[in-house]
Amino acid sequence: MTTYKELPATGGTQDSKQRLQFCAQQHLLKHAVSIENGGLGDNFQALVQAHLELGKSCQDTGLILSLNAHIWGSIFPLVLYGTTEQKAQWLPNLLSGKYLAGHAITEPQAGSDITQLNTQAVATEQGFILNGHKRFITNTPIADVLLIYARLEGKLSAFLVKQDDLGADFKDAPNVTGCSTATMGDIILTDCFIPIDRQLGKTGAGNMMIQNALELERAFIFAGIIGIMQWQLKQVIQYSRQRLVNGQHLGANQAISHKIADMQCRLDGCLLWVNECARLKDSGKRISLASAQTKLVASEAFLQSSLDAAHILGSSGLIAENKMSTLIQDAMASRLFSGSSEIQKNMIAALVGTGEGFKYRG
Ligand SMILES: Cc1cc2nc3c(=O)[nH]c(=O)nc-3n(C[C@H](O)[C@H](O)[C@H](O)COP(=O)(O)OP(=O)(O)OC[C@H]3O[C@@H](n4cnc5c(N)ncnc54)[C@H](O)[C@@H]3O)c2cc1C
Repeated sequence: MTTYKELPATGGTQDSKQRLQFCAQQHLLKHAVSIENGGLGDNFQALVQAHLELGKSCQDTGLILSLNAHIWGSIFPLVLYGTTEQKAQWLPNLLSGKYLAGHAITEPQAGSDITQLNTQAVATEQGFILNGHKRFITNTPIADVLLIYARLEGKLSAFLVKQDDLGADFKDAPNVTGCSTATMGDIILTDCFIPIDRQLGKTGAGNMMIQNALELERAFIFAGIIGIMQWQLKQVIQYSRQRLVNGQHLGANQAISHKIADMQCRLDGCLLWVNECARLKDSGKRISLASAQTKLVASEAFLQSSLDAAHILGSSGLIAENKMSTLIQDAMASRLFSGSSEIQKNMIAALVGTGEGFKYRG
């Protein structure tokens, strides 16, 4: 079981790095990765359990986001698409936490609609020259390397760009409210040269790689957040039993106890969804529909339960140290990262045979 020590969580870049590296020491980056690839050789169910315990003990959505960006944004694409040489070169450092990473898809003019992505890669004899602007990228600027999606010959493709590559500028802004203990920023690529072995996957495979990475992220990012929701509910139940109003404890009021009942149902619903994704993955089945449903249900549940929790605690729910109002902001962000709720609905509709299809980012 993972225990989360008292690590600084002010949101500074050094703190974020330290906390992610703490996760690495707990082997949290190695779940569901085969022993052959340097992982623990366990399954997605084990990953869910470990992330759940982390969430419960850290109550830090930013750390969960940061961890998931690293795992699904860099480790899994390398496992799935890396050549033997690329795996040998990158995976040991990514799995041990020596290198921190993530993936850069979003651009100022392209969020939900990835057909608008405009970062360009041009092939030269020795490698590629990249130009473009990425925005809202988790783990920037602390990332040592990012998987950057750019157009090569007009086709979406993926490239590993290091922080110290000439022409790569990993910035510490803009930041958003919500998940603020994770670092976030822009990446400016100005004639950034990278060697030939830094292309990951085939030219034109970018769209599929994005869908696969986000499918996994959507399925499992809430494992850790459900741990936080469990902690949140426990706090609310405790408060409702201790707080006296009109001579009886707060929870004796049906208006409050029904809110708590709803929180419990949402929490259990989320857990069922995440476990279902793990079950499907562990039995080699597809998770396209289940992961979109999980992301939609869980992010909406997280927001509603965070609003309820802060409200039940009264003004105490708005004291920053109590974390309840921070969780509302985190939940707002969770409706956007890995594809917004509307986009999940578009995908679900398409997968059941209606709607706009896979034009939009998952
Ligand atoms: C905390 C956080 C971390 C992030 N980390 C990363 C990261 O690591 N890497 C990365 O690449 N990106 C990251 N992002 C960016 C995120 O993926 C985008 O913000 C998201 O895809 C939405 O894009 P947008 O903000 O441009 O909104 P837009 O696409 O402009 O959408 C604006 C609003 O319109 C809605 N909308 C858009 N299209 C439709 C439609 N067809 N039908 C109905 N409604 C629609 C959206 O749901 C949204 O509410 C992160 C964002 C956040 C908040």
